[in-house]
Amino acid sequence: MARRIGILGGTFDPVHIAHLRGALEVAEQLALDELRLIPSARPPHREAPQVSAEQRLAMVRLAVEGEPRLAVDDRELRRDKPSFTYDTLESLRGELAADDQVFLLLGWDAFCGLPTWHRWQELLQHCHILVLQRPDADSEAPEALRDLLAARSVNDPQGLVGPGGQIAFVWQTPLAVSATQIRQLLAEGRSVRFLLPDAVLAYIQTHGLYRG
Ligand code: ATP
Repeated sequence: MARRIGILGGTFDPVHIAHLRGALEVAEQLALDELRLIPSARPPHREAPQVSAEQRLAMVRLAVEGEPRLAVDDRELRRDKPSFTYDTLESLRGELAADDQVFLLLGWDAFCGLPTWHRWQELLQHCHILVLQRPDADSEAPEALRDLLAARSVNDPQGLVGPGGQIAFVWQTPLAVSATQIRQLLAEGRSVRFLLPDAVLAYIQTHGLYRG
């Protein structure tokens, strides 16, 4: 039986309920065997000075604890330089059977930025793409993606067949939460309770993260 693996990459700075709820809903809707959250390394100049990659990873691990549908994959942080999604997919594919299905989850904003990604036109050789709508995002796809969408999108995500190659949009509970908003609230000394799991909030408080 072909396995069905979902992956959601992100900086997770910090991980929040929109990442988690979106991931869980997709995992359930598409009956995935596993959905992996993959924290990305970031170039040093973009890293908020007080939050290390290890701390972002620790928060993602705490967030998924006790949720069997969600897992954490730390392969991008085990490399000594930031990985391209293409490389991550190739590395993951090396561990799977040829007919296993891989679903790359991208929020609408991330999807719109796709044409700037390394080898973006080859990503679909390794996976299907599932686009999650984001309530705070523009609705027009950029010009560069129109041909790809016309050629590769299917209306029903349940209709994605084979190991990869197609694009579908998935509905999930709209949650206009962003890590940027959470960092801002924390910098202002305001509460972020219920925007992320309590275990993640406790970690942030214990380590004094994101203080202005
Ligand atoms: P930041 O505010 O720091 O840019 P973020 O909240 O967008 O962070 P990321 O770690 O950059 O979080 O996002 C990882 C993935 O999750 C991306 O594909 C992004 O589009 C998606 N995502 C993040 N927030 C939401 C949301 N509220 N709804 C749907 N998708 C989301």
